[in-house]
This record gives sequence, structure tokens and C-alpha cells, in this order.
Amino acid sequence: MAVTLGYPIDLHTHSIKSDGALSPAELVKRAAARGVTVQALSDHDTLAGVAEAVAEGKRLGVRIIPATELNTESEWGDVHVLAYFVDPNDAAFEEKLKWLRENRGRRIDLMVENLNRLGYKVSLDRVREIAQGGSLGRPHLAQALFEAGHVPSYDAAFDTLISKESPAYVSRVGLAPLEAVELVRKHGGVPALAHPGTVLGLEALLPQLVSAGLRGIECYYGSHTPTRTAGYLRLAARFALVPTGGSDFHGRGDHGADLGGVFVPPDTIAALEALTIRSSW
Ligand SMILES: [Zn+2]
Ligand SMILES: [Zn+2]
Repeated sequence: MAVTLGYPIDLHTHSIKSDGALSPAELVKRAAARGVTVQALSDHDTLAGVAEAVAEGKRLGVRIIPATELNTESEWGDVHVLAYFVDPNDAAFEEKLKWLRENRGRRIDLMVENLNRLGYKVSLDRVREIAQGGSLGRPHLAQALFEAGHVPSYDAAFDTLISKESPAYVSRVGLAPLEAVELVRKHGGVPALAHPGTVLGLEALLPQLVSAGLRGIECYYGSHTPTRTAGYLRLAARFALVPTGGSDFHGRGDHGADLGGVFVPPDTIAALEALTIRSSW
């Protein structure tokens, strides 16, 4: 069966290096088949997949933009910061990402202990195997719980055993939203707010993020209605932010759109690139 073509730009994608299902090369291959020509690989807290994606992108004519998505801890709901044009060879940035990954690893470790205490036996080793060397996250734990027969489906694990209301849940220790934005800026990247619909109190938080160095906002996103998109575009204009967009493709469950599944204006790339602090990209 022929693959349906999507839009040529996708600035939000995940591989198995964080919580996606496909290897970076497989992800780029699928993007290319969907007609994507510019793709940001934005795995959570890691740039480990970038080199593989770039190599495959060169082969298939897909320009890969190095990126990462930083989750933050705060009372503002889910504030995720996308970092564009960050340097995979920046050792100081990698050290900070490693700290974030280790925190995340410890958090899953604690959740596994809680689940075992509550009678839902899962092994941390199996969770690690599922993650295949990537950062451990709740999706890997959900898969392990599903495999062990504790829940009828992958999604059910999220809704019950490891939801924020569950007794096994451990909240994340990590960056606050403003710290994430400052970190990206400090390392020369362009910070953009991911899926602003998950932020609580966006109108109050946004001016603070902008003061900290935020440069973009993900106006175009699979679950946004045209009205929402228009509202975010107005906010982008008010705060002089680049309107970005992407699929948030993960390749498992129904999280995110398909690769290239979301319209992104062609001038977005040049606008972001102009805001990088280093000139080497
Ligand atoms: Zn996100
Ligand atoms: Zn994402």
C-alpha cells in the first residue's frame, strides 16, 4: 500500500532514544517516505540519536535539525521546552542532559519499587530492556506492566497504575520551566514552547518564559483546532515568537500525529536558524 504524503517540515519527532518506537534511522526513513524534507529529532533529554538520523537523512534527502525536548517540573501543568539547533558535541550541555536522564532513571526506579510494594510485580531490568539503552520513561514502564498482564492495554497502565493520581506515581525532579529555557539559550539553541495547550495559566507564564529567552511556540500541533492555532498565532505575534509546529510522532499508541502530519510554514526554519547564538549551523 502506498504511503500517504504529509507536509515537508516536521519539527517534533521522537525515536527509541527516548520514548518513541522506531530507531532514529527507521524514523527518518518513514519521514522521507511521507515526503518530509526537514525533520527535527527531538528526543527527551538526549541528542544520542542525532548522528544516526543525520547519516540516514543524508542518504534520503532529509535535513535533520538537532533538537531535544526538556520536560519541566512546576505547578504550570506540562511545560515542555523544545531546544532547536543545539550542538550534539557540546559536552557541557550533554552533562546537563545526562543529569536529567539520571533523574528520570531514578524516578522510574522508585516507581518500580512502589509498584512491586503494591503487588504489581515488574522488574527494572525488563523496563531497561524495553528502553533499549534510551532514557527510561513512563511509556517503557507502561509497556512492562502491560506485558506482565497487570493491565489490559498499554494505555490502561497510564490511566491507572502510573497516572499522577496513582499511589505508585513519583513526580519528576528536574528543571523548572524558566531554567529549561535559560539552559537552552545558554548553550546557543533556540527554545520553543511545545504543545502550549498542556500549560496551565499560559498567558501568565508566557511573558516570564519570553524574558528568560523563549524564542518560539508550537502553534501548529495535531490536536489543535483551527481556533486554538489562531489563538497561539496571536500570542506568537504579541511576544515576537517564531510559530513552530510538528507531529510529536512517537510511533506507538495514539500519542501524536503521523510524521509530517501537521502543517508548518516553510519560513519557520530560517526564522529559527537566525536566532541561534552560534553561527556554525
Ligand atoms: Zn511534550
Ligand atoms: Zn514530544
